Amino acid sequence: MTHQVHIIGGGLAGSEAAWQLAQAGVKVRLSEMRGSGDMTPAHQTDGLAELVCSNSFRSDDADKNAVGLLHQEMRRLNSLIMAQADLAKVPAGSALAVDRDIFSAGVTRALAGHPHVEIVRERIDALPAEGMTIVATGPLTAPTLATSIGAAAGMDHLAFFDAIAPVVHFDSIDMDKCWMANRWDKIGPGGGEGKDYINCPMNKEQYQAFVQGLLDGEKADFKEWETNTPYFEGCMPIEVMASRGPETLRHGPMKPMGLDDPRTGRWPYAVVQLRQDNASGTLWNMVGFQTKLKHGAQIALFRTIPGLKQAEFARLGGLHRNTFIQSPRLLDATLRLRSAPHIRFAGQVTGCEGYVESSAIGLLAGRFALAELTDRPLAPLPADTALGALLGHVTGNVETADYQPMNVNFGLFPPLDVVKKKQRKEAMTARARASLGQWLGEELQPA
Ligand SMILES: Cc1cc2nc3c(=O)[nH]c(=O)nc-3n(C[C@H](O)[C@H](O)[C@H](O)COP(=O)(O)OP(=O)(O)OC[C@H]3O[C@@H](n4cnc5c(N)ncnc54)[C@H](O)[C@@H]3O)c2cc1C
Repeated sequence: MTHQVHIIGGGLAGSEAAWQLAQAGVKVRLSEMRGSGDMTPAHQTDGLAELVCSNSFRSDDADKNAVGLLHQEMRRLNSLIMAQADLAKVPAGSALAVDRDIFSAGVTRALAGHPHVEIVRERIDALPAEGMTIVATGPLTAPTLATSIGAAAGMDHLAFFDAIAPVVHFDSIDMDKCWMANRWDKIGPGGGEGKDYINCPMNKEQYQAFVQGLLDGEKADFKEWETNTPYFEGCMPIEVMASRGPETLRHGPMKPMGLDDPRTGRWPYAVVQLRQDNASGTLWNMVGFQTKLKHGAQIALFRTIPGLKQAEFARLGGLHRNTFIQSPRLLDATLRLRSAPHIRFAGQVTGCEGYVESSAIGLLAGRFALAELTDRPLAPLPADTALGALLGHVTGNVETADYQPMNVNFGLFPPLDVVKKKQRKEAMTARARASLGQWLGEELQPA
């Protein structure tokens, strides 16, 4: 079969992109290295869309949860991944969890039996020089291809380490306990009033208890292939820093110098700083707090920080090997590599995080490729839909200097301040449903 689009990687994103194109009559070659003698360090089968770790697609609540809303939007766009997840569902409360074998077998069967899809078990070692291509090779992209991507993207734009600091929803921070200031009240290059950071002050007892909590907290194990990954000093896990001595953090990310607490007029003993993480100011990043503490231990310990007692986390910290490109700089609004527009990227390699998000970006890459092939450009996705918010994160709605993978969350959506906090999530999902309906050209339902 002569193909019109070459998709590299038969994981979640590549499978979804292939489905979207094939269903529209486009001939697809899907190259997957598993099954040809190659394997990633995390996959265990040669099934398409294998889930490498948990079996959960997280919350299925489309009214109050951003990932649940993303599920719903993908179902409205005839997602293969969501259809097979629904068929492979296992009981998991309000979450959508699946039997991973049934799920992967379902995706594989649907694509293998599709007249427009040719699945080729082969490893691709270089970005194709021509022909419409979608690269969906994931966080464990084979090294030879990663090198080729690095050459096209500029090596410094291909991140191999994923040092993640937690991100907190602004409206869960108790600003009565914190204050806004820059160290020494310095005005940054972007101007402003010298009040860019949220500062959470700690006294000596609080600091010492916090350091002890870091040392005692349960850590996630390194995977076998990660053990030789050296730490860069710049992304050292905070608990490793704490283990170097009780004062190390006070001279590192928790140093109080130049930060006068307006309540005392003095520097506190130690400070936790949060930096704005998105343009709308709904998300704040805990500066220097990349960590390998287990998620439960992170939540418990970080909620002992003054001002963060009720903190809701948009993302928790982590450190593992991960190949992703600096998408906001490298990709255009339809996921094409600016320097080689015949190539699109999809899935986790673009810097989204998670099964659902990777599949969603695969879905969009497929739709964008279809629009280009048929010369029928899509109207821009509304930013207040889950798909639009996620695409905004990947292609531009973030501070690119520190681009890091992220799950979908309400902090990526345009704010909706007029509504009371309690009703805000439901108002946001209702707004998203209406916007997606309009984008899809659906008739408005009578009230
Ligand atoms: C160890 C680990 C644990 C994770 N746990 C979770 C979790 O619990 N929950 C969650 O939501 N997310 C988790 N993730 C993230 C998860 O990998 C992604 O969310 C998701 O699988 C990404 O989908 P993708 O399609 O982008 O990549 P993948 O699903 O990884 O698919 C990429 C595919 O490309 C193939 N490939 C790679 N290089 C080549 C090449 N050169 N030629 C041909 N084929 C190639 C691979 O074999 C693979 O099938 C985890 C990631 C890792 C690494």
